[in-house]
Amino acid sequence: MRKLTLDFAAAKADVLLVTNAFNVRYLTGFTGSNGACLCFADGRPHVLFTDPRYTIQAGQEYPEGKVQIVKKTRLMALAALEFLAKHKSRRIGIDPNDITVASMAVLEKALPNSAAFVHLPNVVETQRMVKDEAELELIRKSCLTNCAAFEATVKKIKPGMREADVAAELEYQQRKRGASAAAFETIVAAGPRTALPHARPTNAKIGENVLLLIDMGAIEDGYTSDMTRMLFVGTSGKGDLPKQVRGWYADVLEAQLAAIDAVREGASAGSVDRAARQVLKAKGHGDLFTHSTGHGLGLEVHESPGLRQKDKTRLQAGMVVTIEPGIYVEGVGGIRIEDTVAVTKGGCEILTPTPRELIQI
Ligand code: ZN
Ligand code: ZN
Repeated sequence: MRKLTLDFAAAKADVLLVTNAFNVRYLTGFTGSNGACLCFADGRPHVLFTDPRYTIQAGQEYPEGKVQIVKKTRLMALAALEFLAKHKSRRIGIDPNDITVASMAVLEKALPNSAAFVHLPNVVETQRMVKDEAELELIRKSCLTNCAAFEATVKKIKPGMREADVAAELEYQQRKRGASAAAFETIVAAGPRTALPHARPTNAKIGENVLLLIDMGAIEDGYTSDMTRMLFVGTSGKGDLPKQVRGWYADVLEAQLAAIDAVREGASAGSVDRAARQVLKAKGHGDLFTHSTGHGLGLEVHESPGLRQKDKTRLQAGMVVTIEPGIYVEGVGGIRIEDTVAVTKGGCEILTPTPRELIQI
């Protein structure tokens, strides 16, 4: 069980009803797909609600807490509400973003006259931004698995392989090393397709003397990782990286290092983004950097904070973010370099040890 750090008095709530599966997992350790939990202002253990498919699992994963088994066809949040009616909680905190309009209507109808909902968006997500030591350890592990899978796959890549073959090999290598799945659809893009920041692997064969972009993440023990590396697939002796591409690569790397350098406790998310953006602007690529510099990750691969231009969120030690500037030229290609880092008091810890140099094959 993880304690909710919400200031209930300030939030004007007696209890928080949590329905988001990642948040339920974070608070109770329960990993099933159907669950809700209640966290009380008085600090008593959270109550977990799930259906009979998960009776054994819930007992194993949340042995210290109270588990209530509810018919599968029922709305878990509704069962939680009925539980609260017996316990006279009046101000029920809820995150409206996590509940469909239809479910909310059912809940509103079932709400006793003496009780009211208090909308408290992103309470658990905000707490989740700062990882505790146990979480950091799991993210480190996920990153190491991801990097090892990448490095094992690189040795096998050669011209003529399909993008999809490379993606399959990357995911196989992740799972062989302990990952339960890829954290997102693995991106393998060759040649001009590297200009698509979210390219899906296709059946196209990887040609000769082309850039190859690989963006991959693993899930291990529920925690994600995220890394992008670039390769140049040449032909033996003949293939050499065009000078222009080498220049672009150096520029993106400089931008990435500048952003990594800007990460420390107290820095704003926006200042990290600006550090990367300024470098690329000075090199004349300002318009080619078409996305934000990075994102938080943890149980989900995209979490807060986002490292966006105007984001004023102050970084705190324990936050984990990606640093991933890139430039994209339609019809020609793109370059992105991405690492996952943990914010520390004086800087950051880089969690993805794979070297950043462009890999020539
Ligand atoms: Zn990525
Ligand atoms: Zn990313």
